Amino acid sequence: MNSQPILKNRRRINFLYTLLLAVVFLPSCGGGSAEGSNDISPSDPLLVEEEMPVVQRKPIFKRRLALFVVDFLDNRQMFPPARDIEKNLEEGVVRDYFSDISYGQFTYDIDSFGPFTHQDNFTSLYPDHVQKVFSINTVNISGFDADRYDLFILVTLSDYEFEAGVTIPKGYLEFRVNGEVVNSDKRVVVNPLFAGCRKRDCSGDLSPEDKFQEKDFSGSPFTLFQRIFIHEFIHSLGIWEHANSRTNGSRFDYEEEIPNNRENLNYDYGNSYDIMGGAPDYHYGYNLNVGYRDWLGWLKPPRKTVIKDYGCFTTTVNPINSVDYTVAVEIVIPEKGDRYYLEVRDFLDKWDRRGHTSEVQKIVADNRQGIMVNKKADDTADMVFTPTLLLDMSPSPNRTEKGYEGEPDIRDVVLKPGREYEYDAPDVRLWDVIPEGNGSFSVKIMVKRPDDEPHKSCAGY
Ligand SMILES: [Zn+2]
Repeated sequence: MNSQPILKNRRRINFLYTLLLAVVFLPSCGGGSAEGSNDISPSDPLLVEEEMPVVQRKPIFKRRLALFVVDFLDNRQMFPPARDIEKNLEEGVVRDYFSDISYGQFTYDIDSFGPFTHQDNFTSLYPDHVQKVFSINTVNISGFDADRYDLFILVTLSDYEFEAGVTIPKGYLEFRVNGEVVNSDKRVVVNPLFAGCRKRDCSGDLSPEDKFQEKDFSGSPFTLFQRIFIHEFIHSLGIWEHANSRTNGSRFDYEEEIPNNRENLNYDYGNSYDIMGGAPDYHYGYNLNVGYRDWLGWLKPPRKTVIKDYGCFTTTVNPINSVDYTVAVEIVIPEKGDRYYLEVRDFLDKWDRRGHTSEVQKIVADNRQGIMVNKKADDTADMVFTPTLLLDMSPSPNRTEKGYEGEPDIRDVVLKPGREYEYDAPDVRLWDVIPEGNGSFSVKIMVKRPDDEPHKSCAGY
């Protein structure tokens, strides 16, 4: 444990950041106090005591989940029973998704319990309802063995709340089964999920499938409920940040920062092509970027090409979910430790298909014409998990049109043929993108020595 005060402080802040931003805010239809209600006070003693989740990079291939359905006396609508919720998350599209993003390596099982009626009315839990749900003391299950599970999920059934999820690192809040705390002695995480009727059709005598039909969420392969589950589940696997973006208006990210660039060099949720990013009102894809797949141990060679020396390289990147080909290039800048991850999105990939408007169709088609580049800052020095940062390979001014107040424009983001990205040495140059058929692209890569001049060392390469 490093005892430098600055580092300690940074760890604490990062922990707070993780908790706050693990919450997914989705359209709330007028839930005005929603964001404020999820604040976690920096003076919270638990926060001071707790160690933040440290970088723990090891392959993850299996998780066993216990799912607890929680309802409330003051809000008894027609919700699906626990077994239907289990099936909704364990079978079909959610399982297919995890299979695809892990190349068939990751599986999970769910056992469901409940419903358990919370001792408090839902409305009485405000304003910290997201956290207070964990105080449920009515979960009693004969013979329950907590050691069988890696993860505990609370599915909170309420119509009062907008749909949201949160992931809680172990020990931060206590969750009890049979009066015993089950999430303190091992690395387990609890996700409450709100399955409100605001988006679901709760009327009539519906089949289990119909009970999950959601309104106003077209163009997605998932229901909102499933999408929140997937997002929080991936947090629980150790991805303690979101898929962010790093843009600098009309300049490349490495150039002097433009005035009024807001937080755009590390814009939370900024990668709208990723299940771990994306504001709900503009989401172009739901794949998980290869930087996070790599961190979860799903990209061993030859699935990825690793470049960690200075020099000139040519390599080919294939569509992200191709099972038998190289789908990622990981470039590690020597001595700096910063990484670049190169990936390509697939024309026919159902997880990227969100062409429900002509504008989105154009955006998605555009970004299949080249290589998507994410940067991930070195995470070994401080042992703090760093987010992937989607870089814009065709910088354009921040968006200020209606509904935007200086947000990044990442509608056309990939490195296309004819484009070039060149950071000062020691860092990277990427250029000469060439389509290779079947949605694949080759690219030239130069990892520049500290004394390399721009363009020089790989001239004519
Ligand atoms: Zn999140």
